[in-house]
Amino acid sequence: MTKTGRLYVVSTPIGNMGDLSARAREVLAGVAVVAAEDTRHSGRLLQSLGISRLLVSLHEHNERERVPELLDRLRRGEDVALVSDAGTPLVSDPGFHLVRGAIAAGVTVSPVPGPCAAVAALSVSGLPVDRFCFEGFLPPRRAARRARLEGLVAEMRTLVFYEAPQRLADSLADAAAKLGAGRNAAVARELTKLHESLYHGTLGELARRAAEESDMNRGEMVLIIGGAAAPAPIRSAELDRTLKSLLKFHSPSQAASLAAEITGLRRNACYSRALELAGS
Ligand code: SAM
Repeated sequence: MTKTGRLYVVSTPIGNMGDLSARAREVLAGVAVVAAEDTRHSGRLLQSLGISRLLVSLHEHNERERVPELLDRLRRGEDVALVSDAGTPLVSDPGFHLVRGAIAAGVTVSPVPGPCAAVAALSVSGLPVDRFCFEGFLPPRRAARRARLEGLVAEMRTLVFYEAPQRLADSLADAAAKLGAGRNAAVARELTKLHESLYHGTLGELARRAAEESDMNRGEMVLIIGGAAAPAPIRSAELDRTLKSLLKFHSPSQAASLAAEITGLRRNACYSRALELAGS
């Protein structure tokens, strides 16, 4: 019986080519085929490494159709490397269907870890990294973006978002409005590149800067927002009791307003908890 090949999920640089690992180079040189989000882009990377390999495109729009063909190659014993344009495949990038298909087909999947903008940004954000929550891109349309942020009001883990430069100012303003202007946050821009810059401050401060400083709205960026503060334990027992009664008859929003009046706690805190209780 032919031994199946191995699927390597290979991280590539997010800017600085020096960040490509020695093992990534070795794996890319050793596989039969490289499945790439953009074959021209990855072709240039391979060329700069002096590697000539068969490149197969695997992007958002053709991934499902491409999986059977790549699985056939793996079953025939060929090794395949999966790369995206930058960073770690599958992290807001294609590859999920291929990896899932490979696992289901009994093919060994190996990571070749390396750069990832979310993790790089977290490491320099100055915000807690012991527990974090990766949220990918916020919806581009305001109403949907605000709704998504509203659903994160009570999230206590540090929040990580990828953001497009033309939407940074709006997203920061919406985050300040929905999560509170006083929350600590950071914007990590153009990491590992010439114009790498970090902006630290409250959401209110960062929203103001993004509206005023055009440089802040250029290039690639990650937005990191501190999690919600934990409610004080004694008050939270009282709040839960009040909210549970109110939620029997009122929407989370109405219950939160009433609970804020009854307990003297901030409406925002009551609303976050009301949403949690209503969802559980
Ligand atoms: N898979 C990639 C990774 O592991 O980071 C992310 C791909 S996602 C399509 C691209 C987004 O990642 C950009 O819009 C930006 O939000 C973020 N990003 C990528 N490179 C970056 C960099 N050098 N500095 C800051 N953010 C970056």
